[in-house]
Amino acid sequence: MRITFPKELEVRRNIRLKDYNSIHVGGPADYLAEVTTQTDLINLYRYCLKQDIRMLAIGDGTNVFFSEKGFRGLVAVIKFGRIEQLGENCIRAESGAQFSALNRFCLEHSLTGCEFSSGIPGTVGGAIYGNAGAYGKNIGQCLSSAKILTADGKVKSVSNDYLEFSYRSSRLKRHPAIVLEAEFQFEPGDYAEIKKRIDDIVEIRRSKLPPETVRTAGSYFKNLKDDLGNPIAAATYLDAVGSKQASVGDAAVHIKHANIFYNKGRATAQDVLKLEEMLRERVYEKFGVRLEREVMYFE
Ligand SMILES: Cc1cc2nc3c(=O)[nH]c(=O)nc-3n(C[C@H](O)[C@H](O)[C@H](O)COP(=O)(O)OP(=O)(O)OC[C@H]3O[C@@H](n4cnc5c(N)ncnc54)[C@H](O)[C@@H]3O)c2cc1C
Repeated sequence: MRITFPKELEVRRNIRLKDYNSIHVGGPADYLAEVTTQTDLINLYRYCLKQDIRMLAIGDGTNVFFSEKGFRGLVAVIKFGRIEQLGENCIRAESGAQFSALNRFCLEHSLTGCEFSSGIPGTVGGAIYGNAGAYGKNIGQCLSSAKILTADGKVKSVSNDYLEFSYRSSRLKRHPAIVLEAEFQFEPGDYAEIKKRIDDIVEIRRSKLPPETVRTAGSYFKNLKDDLGNPIAAATYLDAVGSKQASVGDAAVHIKHANIFYNKGRATAQDVLKLEEMLRERVYEKFGVRLEREVMYFE
């Protein structure tokens, strides 16, 4: 059935999703809209709810891939991303703001606490959804509150506790809602020290990760913990089973990082999922450990 959306919502039909994710994998979405204001997103969501159309909000697509059959429903790409300082330590960012822009904003205002985000691609909304982080720190540790659009179409202000942040996860993975904006608390710091920490992190990442031109969705599997609760990188297991030489079709593991899948050209979702299963089996056989996918997959 073909739906007629209100013209002002600028919904397009039959749009290739591989153009909206960084690993470039996915067939067409029935409908797609690039949404530039919170009001438009709320109206679009409520319209979809009324018409019984499935809707998925994404940001930059740096942690997501789609089936070759595409997405039945509407994909809303969040593009609103204003960032402002509210008090000395408090910053409000709309969910479509780049995480890197929040990082830069903190530096420009000599606020410390966001340096860990240096080099993490994607938007603030995507980061909240998956509690993005690096080097032992994550976005859940600096978020004080958020404004969300709940599944029944209501706008609600929620506290940090409500979002139930845990390792690469939040309540939003279990109870879908769309983040509209969030407030963060940072500490006043010294510009030069903050800049130095950012530069150091960027340098470490550059040495460990594939170049930015590589089509990837970042770390594919979640890291784990040993019996004492110490973190163990999934890459340790993957390296030990030869993942860096593994590929299925055009989906392969990058030579620089045993846990980063990339698209050599025409990888399909099936290629990626088969590579996932092959490596999960190898790790299970050798170590008795079941790896869990971190990257989001929609069909
Ligand atoms: C090279 C590379 C390096 C990376 N390094 C790291 C790293 O160091 N640490 C780390 O944690 N991640 C890392 N990632 C993964 C990725 O950058 C993060 O998960 C990022 O936060 C995703 O943001 P996004 O806007 O791209 O989300 P998307 O990929 O667009 O979406 C991811 C999920 O979030 C949901 N979502 C997006 N926006 C919203 C919203 N406003 N409200 C509710 N749900 C939403 C989507 O529905 C989807 O399920 C890396 C990725 C790449 C490609």
